[in-house]
Amino acid sequence: MAIVFNDRMPFGTSELREATHKLQERYASLRTQTIGESVLGRPLFLYLLGQGPCQALYVGGVHALEYITSMLLVRFTERLCACAETGGTLHGLGAASFLSNHALAVLPMLNPDGVEIHLHGAQTAGAAAATVMRLSGGDFSTWQANARGVDLNHNFDAGFRILKQQEAQHGIHGPGPGKFGGYRPESEAETRALCHLCRRIPFKKTIAFHSQGEELYWHYGPKTPPEACQMAMRLGNSAGYAVKNPTGMAAHGGFKDWFIQTFARPGFTVEVGKGHNPLPPENCPVIYEKLEPMMVLGLQV
Ligand SMILES: [Zn+2]
Repeated sequence: MAIVFNDRMPFGTSELREATHKLQERYASLRTQTIGESVLGRPLFLYLLGQGPCQALYVGGVHALEYITSMLLVRFTERLCACAETGGTLHGLGAASFLSNHALAVLPMLNPDGVEIHLHGAQTAGAAAATVMRLSGGDFSTWQANARGVDLNHNFDAGFRILKQQEAQHGIHGPGPGKFGGYRPESEAETRALCHLCRRIPFKKTIAFHSQGEELYWHYGPKTPPEACQMAMRLGNSAGYAVKNPTGMAAHGGFKDWFIQTFARPGFTVEVGKGHNPLPPENCPVIYEKLEPMMVLGLQV
């Protein structure tokens, strides 16, 4: 398996483009589209698998230095497509029959500009290069934000006022490598594109993949559906990940928070792998092995 990309090397936007192209060529049943563009005009790819109601939306590459999540989602897409083609099963799921009645949407990289900055520096940021250089101080190893220095997972309209207060308490007053949520919710092109997608397609649930910690978050406020707790337990158990509640600044402005609050449907954040960010890309196969049962179960619960 894993014919579409070298899953032990850093995975930037050219690797994503190539993998997307190869997936498209190899699997006629896979539909790929773009749901918009990043701040710097890079395409935001979406993969659609199967026919029927969309069981889930899986999102990766939200934080720049967590591009390993993009690799995991491309790998999962390929596995599912290959299984459907050969009539095989994946952790008990008959892929072909499942995909003839249900669909899955995968957005492998929400933050392509940030990933490029993290991997290849400020010169990849075009018109934003000087700003990125100033904000980063020339060190891109911890860059999480998009090209405007906004942390996309703090840019959603959920508890935004509280988030701003927390930022101020932490001395965060403007753009930077991470943790700044923008001057208003959905100020960023990437955030808006994802919100529009969710308003257009009634996904039954979403899972956003981040790194790291082998943890899963499921709760946000009174709109959290009652079944989400049980689903989180099952998802967590399937991969041996711990089920957690967020505290502090991670608790507001996130995609899962917004999804739960807006649609009253289950939204999860999964922190993949264990170690120090950025997780080394050569760990991708090992992390994937452990995570695959959860990715499959996420289609069914
Ligand atoms: Zn993250």
